[in-house]
Amino acid sequence: MRSAEPSPERQSDSRRWGTRGTAAATFAGQLSFENVSRRFGKTAAVEDVSFTLNPGEIACLLGPSGCGKTTLLRIAAGIDKPDSGRLLFDGQEVAGPDRFVPPERRNIGLMFQDFALFPHLPIIDNVAFGLNALPRDAARGIALHALERVGLAHYAESYPHSLSGGEQQRVALARALVPRPQVLLMDEPFSGLDQRLRESVRAETLTLLRETRASCLLVTHDPVEAMGLADRIFLMRQGRLIQAGTPEELYRHPADAPAARFFSDTDEVRGEVRDGQVVTALGTFSCPERVRGPDALVLIRPQGIRRAEGGGGTEGLITETRFQGDDVKCRILFKGLDEPLTALLDSRAAPQRGETALFRVDPDHVFVFETATPQPI
Ligand code: ATP
Repeated sequence: MRSAEPSPERQSDSRRWGTRGTAAATFAGQLSFENVSRRFGKTAAVEDVSFTLNPGEIACLLGPSGCGKTTLLRIAAGIDKPDSGRLLFDGQEVAGPDRFVPPERRNIGLMFQDFALFPHLPIIDNVAFGLNALPRDAARGIALHALERVGLAHYAESYPHSLSGGEQQRVALARALVPRPQVLLMDEPFSGLDQRLRESVRAETLTLLRETRASCLLVTHDPVEAMGLADRIFLMRQGRLIQAGTPEELYRHPADAPAARFFSDTDEVRGEVRDGQVVTALGTFSCPERVRGPDALVLIRPQGIRRAEGGGGTEGLITETRFQGDDVKCRILFKGLDEPLTALLDSRAAPQRGETALFRVDPDHVFVFETATPQPI
């Protein structure tokens, strides 16, 4: 494990959350899942999942409803146990065939979707709740610092019901962070917020997480949220880990067709594999070795279709347009295809419905897979 000692300026940031040693340890933790499986009756909620959350890393468990994200988080927290496989905390087994360390001895913080604040306690006591090893005044002092940091010190003596959803989220975050957990686990922490608030609360949360330096594993079903927050994404489907990597790696190099579709809209065309290339009605693209042919499935993102400038390109008829501000969403029928494809074109230079124009496809937005693809995500 690498040293988790912060740089001097980050150290002063992290000390705003409490003096080292007053609460829990302040070194970021490492969490490793090794071949973890969990079944509920006939449902394989998690199947043979292995990955490591590195110290200080913010990672997202991403996938649609029911793919096993929460089950993994519960296993990490110690609320649930794996049927097989092991969970290691800083290299030590905390769940597995030989050992089970209960949640309160894992130095892990938890933050739930509904924030789970205690309605009968003032905000300051909600935040101080995890500091029960400290004298009350000291705990309240640290809680007040944390509330100052999230801009809510003036609500210290108020009760949760008098706060907005965004404010409650910040209280829940302060409460999860004050015991200085080595690993913070967050289950859909923004889904209870209204769309307009979400982006600013997310940005603020990210700043606070970086400040406190806890490792963080966050569950979300929203790929845009995962890409905006995570150093690394673990993409899950039907209980299995499909792909792990940086947001850019997953967006630019999806492991399979459902993974590509999960990150953005795509249209599909058939291609013919010839000499390491795939030939389609919209041009020829390079074909990865794993696709053997003779046919291939070619996915094209709307943002990859552009007006061809300076000659060349494929002629397409605009069948539909929808103005979206900077972009116009167009449906374009190309010769040789039965269905129109969707394109996002610059609204200042987009053709009108009924016009024909020449288009080219940016290969960075083209993904080639075997025609027999896995189940959709
Ligand atoms: P969501 O985003 O909807 O919370 P998820 O990806 O977190 O979904 P899990 O909650 O981990 O998924 O559930 C994975 C699968 O295991 C689902 O099919 C779910 O119905 C099942 N499951 C989870 N917990 C239990 C349980 N306690 N008893 C029975 N089945 C369960």
